[in-house]
Amino acid sequence: MSDLPAAVPPAPRSSPSRAGLFWLSSAGFAALVGLPFGRVDAATLDRLGGTALAHGCTDIRLSPWRGIAFRGMAQADATALLTFAHSVGLIVRDDDPRLSVQACAGAPACLRAETSAMTDASQLADAIAPLLAEGLTLHVSGCVKSCARPGTSDLTLVGRDARYGVIIGGTARDSAIAELDLSALVTRLQPGQEIHARLVAAGLIAGPRV
Ligand code: SF4
Repeated sequence: MSDLPAAVPPAPRSSPSRAGLFWLSSAGFAALVGLPFGRVDAATLDRLGGTALAHGCTDIRLSPWRGIAFRGMAQADATALLTFAHSVGLIVRDDDPRLSVQACAGAPACLRAETSAMTDASQLADAIAPLLAEGLTLHVSGCVKSCARPGTSDLTLVGRDARYGVIIGGTARDSAIAELDLSALVTRLQPGQEIHARLVAAGLIAGPRV
């Protein structure tokens, strides 16, 4: 063993892009469309598929990142499909903050839901986009059952009687540090506010730059 050369660790790989335009060489261009929180309604999916077909798509595959890859198109067609997908609320950019959020269906789709988890998750993704871009992981659950993510997240919000229990660095079954409605939650996640400060103190996001 002592004769073996010292091992050199491989260089870290860059993260794969999860949405947008891709060149596939042998398969032309592809439009990778992300589904917000892994869901799309049937009517929108039908329109998306019809638009892809009209633009010459020859092959459709599921991506590992809650999305659909439409392949085999000319660049202009793939770009047009992304424009259409964006117009119906789907994800077409790799920096879309919704890609950093896990959320269940919530109300009204789920009878157990105590909040509109998916709708609220969209609003939260916009409101705290800079924190998500820093790498903060957010899980929004309509109730304690935690269907979207059983494990730990940096910030977990659990629906309770139209408000959210706030859990830092834990799962939906851990103790909440506060219970807030969506509006108060968005406010307290802003720099200088209490929950933001707790995330900084826990080392989950960067503190204010001095
Ligand atoms: S976590 Fe609760 S509200 Fe969300 S889908 Fe599961 S049972 Fe429904």
